[in-house]
Amino acid sequence: MANKPKILLVYTGGTIGMVKDYQTQALRAFDFSQILDKIPELKHLNCSISTVSFEEPIDSSNMNTNYYVKIAEIIAENYKDFDGFVVLTGSDTMSYTSSAISFMFENLQKPVIFTGSQLPIGDLRTDAKENLITSIEIACTRENNEPIIKEVGLYFEYKLYRANRTTKINAEQFEAFTSMNYPPLAESGVHLQFNKQLLLKPREGKNELIFRKNLVHDVVILKLFPGITKKVVEVILNIDNLKGVILETYGSGNAPTERWFITLIKEALAKGIQIVNVTQCAGGSVILGLYETSTELKSVGIINGKDITTETAIAKMMYLLGEKLPTDKFKYYFETSLRGEIS
Ligand code: ASP
Repeated sequence: MANKPKILLVYTGGTIGMVKDYQTQALRAFDFSQILDKIPELKHLNCSISTVSFEEPIDSSNMNTNYYVKIAEIIAENYKDFDGFVVLTGSDTMSYTSSAISFMFENLQKPVIFTGSQLPIGDLRTDAKENLITSIEIACTRENNEPIIKEVGLYFEYKLYRANRTTKINAEQFEAFTSMNYPPLAESGVHLQFNKQLLLKPREGKNELIFRKNLVHDVVILKLFPGITKKVVEVILNIDNLKGVILETYGSGNAPTERWFITLIKEALAKGIQIVNVTQCAGGSVILGLYETSTELKSVGIINGKDITTETAIAKMMYLLGEKLPTDKFKYYFETSLRGEIS
């Protein structure tokens, strides 16, 4: 049928695209162009599906910024011809990848849904079929001739989340992801229920897709722990060419008040390194100045990551550094929600 929504399925690798060789028990990648034969149920969905696959599918532990660009380019090149995109990656780094893609596209008007699975598609008890079928269904759901989802989502085990709010929390259970600081955008039960008031709405009059692929990777995540030494912090903050630090602090953004620590932070800021304070807690927010242990961080000008996840903070850092903004603008944009990533 001519006016069925057109969905592009992008396969990059990961468990979802594997089958078990029951003779050897080993997992091997299968030819993804055969997906419609492997899951005949897909033919019953009210959309037409095309597939594109990485020539050499990767385990998502090998994900990097070149692959981010490759995924985003596939979407950008096909943006006009398709109504929605479903991207299959391994779940291990899916929150990082999908967050990065959310920043790389401004004024997105179509759904980009990331999914994967804990068990291969060819496994008898697989979670891949449900994840894949419902992701495609979400990507082709329309209302008033427009897609309902106009942002980057992550669908796993009956829930659609805003991708840049997610974290992988479980390597065992099918419910592998959570989004502690933002409720699910949709839930799949007997019906597919969209929480419409939570969805990202494109800005008025901004229709043109802007694609930015200039990511900077001179960044680091520095996680505090009791007993961290001056030497460790000093070495990290003095890495050659370092441009950005995601500082994972305690609770609501607290860090040691020892002199050496504050001095090293100040020196790094003076060198033009951007430092963002995010919390190690899975849920909740940084509140700079709530405790004495964050007052000084606030006064030296550290960026407040608020309730952003670490995965998204590092993706946003790579993206905003690529924009080459002056320090005050960088801070402003980091502390402002660009794609619904902070409250
Ligand atoms: N190691 C796999 C990956 O992330 C696991 C998965 O696919 O979920 O690529």
